[in-house]
Formats: sequence, structure tokens, C-alpha cells
Amino acid sequence: MNIANWLDQSASRWPDRPALFQGARQVADYAEFAARSKVRALSLMEWDGVRPGDRVALFMKNSCDYLELLYAIWWAGAVAVPINCKLHVAEAAWILGNAEARVVFTDEGQTFPPAVLPERCRERDGLLPNEAEWVRPLERQVIDGLQHPVPRDVDDLAWLFYTSGTTGRSKGVMLSHGNLTAMSLCYPVDVDRVDAGDAVVYAAPMSHGAGLYNFIHVRHGARHVVPVSRGFKATEVFDLAMALGQVTLFAAPTMVKRMVEGAREHGYSGEGLKTVVYGGAPMYLADLQQALDVFGPRLVQIYGQGESPMTVSALSREAIADRAHPQWERRAASVGTVQSCVEIRVVDGQRQPLPHGQPGEIAVRGATVMQGYWRNEAATAETRVDGWLYTGDIGYLDADGYLTLTDRSKDVIISGGSNVYPREVEEVLALHPGVFEVCVVGEQDAEWGESVVAFVVPREHGTLSHEALNAWFVSRMASFKKPKKYLFCSELPKNSYGKVLKTDLRARLRNRSDPLAMS
Ligand code: AMP
Repeated sequence: MNIANWLDQSASRWPDRPALFQGARQVADYAEFAARSKVRALSLMEWDGVRPGDRVALFMKNSCDYLELLYAIWWAGAVAVPINCKLHVAEAAWILGNAEARVVFTDEGQTFPPAVLPERCRERDGLLPNEAEWVRPLERQVIDGLQHPVPRDVDDLAWLFYTSGTTGRSKGVMLSHGNLTAMSLCYPVDVDRVDAGDAVVYAAPMSHGAGLYNFIHVRHGARHVVPVSRGFKATEVFDLAMALGQVTLFAAPTMVKRMVEGAREHGYSGEGLKTVVYGGAPMYLADLQQALDVFGPRLVQIYGQGESPMTVSALSREAIADRAHPQWERRAASVGTVQSCVEIRVVDGQRQPLPHGQPGEIAVRGATVMQGYWRNEAATAETRVDGWLYTGDIGYLDADGYLTLTDRSKDVIISGGSNVYPREVEEVLALHPGVFEVCVVGEQDAEWGESVVAFVVPREHGTLSHEALNAWFVSRMASFKKPKKYLFCSELPKNSYGKVLKTDLRARLRNRSDPLAMS
């Protein structure tokens, strides 16, 4: 089962359906989308000698070409290696070398200095303006030889996903055609209904989670929209939603926050927006409340990780929107209930299952769990045991099946022998009306082992004090969890996917050279 079969089949069933959009402008219907992917597949095979199983990388910003190239790679039976386009060329080159990629597509076709590019890897321009010149000669050969995608088995690799590396060196997560199929089929069952008239907007990087939404939308013959900015701007998303209707997008919680602010500023309240799927980082209750106030019942949450993409649990639109429910707060602060093709359990330090309500490491087993880490047996053996993927996330399950994340195992602060989960401290501080953003980390402390430090971005400079935040905190939570220090700053360091870089904050504390903090 080659995942590209879905494009092949949608193109034969609905050749005239609108498929690819640059902004609000259609650039391809399904027949054209499939035809271009096929021709590009042939060029990979004929001109670059790519064979089934070979790795082909993309080091590009979001574009319609990106989608055509992904399908070209799968059509040829090869493995896609999407690389975060914000990485330094030296980091991207490391990935190319590690994956032994034969080809890398870039925006300009000359991103890598020859000395940096691995020897056997060719750089190609991913954005091809003069299509007519090169498509025609290949079209005839496609008709002869590459009508349908090269057959693949469910366990054959489709996507080598390099982790964002917020903790240590990036590893290549091996996702098979079967993993991507299972993940996509869970979406309409567990996350959101998909209709042919839907439009999925790629505002977050396609090299990461946002790119995974393409499959189920291809399967339904829906529309794929790349913003003209090729990135995320709240007002651009609103304009697209109003122009195209039935818009779905994936947004990290920081993006949702910016959408809320933008909507308030421009008097927008969700017209044309069908669903905002959020995930990838904690969404604090205070922020969720505001998003619901502005957008109404348009939010759905997913929890997953590269190693089980998009698919561990989901919190439904109904559960999020039902603020009158007596359990609303608890459920809204959770990551929802298990998705249909996986099972989860929470385990202690010896990897033994824990009873409901007790926090431990979350483990996942099922059809979306990766095949392992690329050429890294030690890391695979540590993370995937008897089919169970140990996520490194800490959380607990309630008796009614809702899973709440308390933290990453490496982020837990142990202060005076007590565990403090930064997430719960952040939740309380985020509720303070003067706090715009907050992130809590541990700092080495001679007396306590570690102490709690909160980096706080105030809504308005100079409006918050240590005393006010302390008073707020101790009236709501055990005082042993109280931050010993508040460091006020104008913004938090984030990676290109919007995740706060806690390692960066810890390093700043260690080095004491703290350009971030205002006080
Ligand atoms: P990545 O593999 O880069 O997608 O990162 C996955 C990690 O992001 C997970 O292991 C969690 O720590 C975090 N994460 C993903 N989804 C959520 C969510 N809905 N709420 C809180 N954290 C999340």
C-alpha cells in the first residue's frame, strides 16, 4: 500500500475538483496535481537515478510544489525527508548525510555551498517556473511507464521525520506507509469529520505536523491551500477563510494566541473557519477560554509526537466547547481520550502500569507507532520496547479515560525531594490577567537541589511584580511549588514550530548572562 495511491485514485475519481491553491488562487485540479507529481517522479528516477527506498529531502518553505514533490517521491517509491527550513544549512547538511539523501530540493536550487553538501547528494530547485519546457517530454514516458505509484508494502518507509531536537540531537523517526495510512484514517474518526468541500490551510511548517494533514484531505478530494506568505499570519488566515470557506488548519498554541489577538483587533469571529486543530505544546486553560470566546466551537486538540504522528489522544470539539459541563475544566486541561488505532498506558520508573490518577510516563502501542530511529539501534531499543513506545511525556489517566499531561520527563523539577510539574505552575500563572506568556524551568540550587524559576512575559511592560505574582500563586497552589524567582522578559525563545526552548532557558540561567530577562 503506497500512500500515493490515494492521490492516484482521487485524480481518477474527481479529475476536475480544485486541489492546490496559492492563497485564494487555484493552481491545480486533482488531475493536474497527480500529473505533475508523476512527471516529477519520473524526473527523479530518470535524471537523478532515484530508486525505491532511496531518500529524497526537501529543505523548502511551504508551497504547492512541496506537495507535488512529496507525492513525486512516494510515486517513485522513495522516502521523503522533509527538513525544517529554518535550520542552518550545516544542520540540514548533517541530516542529508545521516539520511544518505540522493537529492535535496530547495527553494533556490543553490542553498548549499558545494563543500557542505554530502558527496552523493544533488541539490535541485523545488520551485519550477517553466514547467511546459520540461513536463512535455516526460509526459509521454509517464504514459508508458509510471501510470500508477510504485507498489510498496505497509512496512516500507515513506517519511523520515527528523525530530525537532528540543532535547538533544535530532533523530530520524522512520514512518512507514502503514503508519501514515493508520494515522490518516484515525483523523475523521477521532479528530474531525472531513468533507470534499473542505480547505486545509498550511500555515505551520509542512516539514512537521502540519504537513501530515494532506493525506486525509487528498483522500477526500478536498482543497489544499498554501498562504502567499508561505508561513503564518493571523490576518492572512482570516482572509483565506472568508474567501474559501470550510477552512481547517493546524496551529500550535502560540499561533492560536496570535489568532485570538488578531481577531479581536480586526473584529473577526471565525467566518469561513471550520476547525482549528491545536497541539504540539500545552494550551493553557486561560488561553483556551479566550479562543472559545472569539472563535466558538471550532477548536479540536490532538496529542501526538513524531514517533506516533498526530495520534495518541484527541480532545473533541464538543468536549472543548461544552463549558457548562461540570467536568469541563478538568477535561479541557487534558489532551483528551485515546485515539482508535492505539492503546495507552501510564507506567512507573520500572515501566509497570500505574493506577488511574497517578502520574508516570505515557506509553503508546499501535498502528501509528514508528518503525524505529533511522540507523540508531540504541535509541530505538531504549524507546520502543515490545511494541510500546515510551514517549518521555509524564501524565495521568482518569477513570473516564481522559489523559492529562503534566510534563516531559526531563522537565520535571525536583525541589527539596518533591516533584514539581512546570505545567501546573504555568497554568496558574497564565491565569493572571497581567501575564501574556509564561514558562517554568528548574535551576540548580545548593539548598533544594533545584528551585522553580518562572520566565514571565507581561501583557504590559512594568505592570507585574514578584509580590503580586506570589500572592496570586499561593492563593491557588501549594507554596512549595511557588517560583523562587520571576524573570520578566519581552518574549520567550521558541523553535520554528512554536515550542518554547526550555533547554535554552536553562542554559541562560546556568550562564547567568541573561539577555532575555528584563529584571
Ligand atoms: P514533536 O515530536 O516535535 O511533535 O513533539 C511532540 C511532543 O510535543 C510531545 O511528546 C509532547 O511533549 C508535546 N505535545 C504534543 N501535543 C501536545 C499537546 N496537545 N499538549 C501538550 N503537549 C503536547
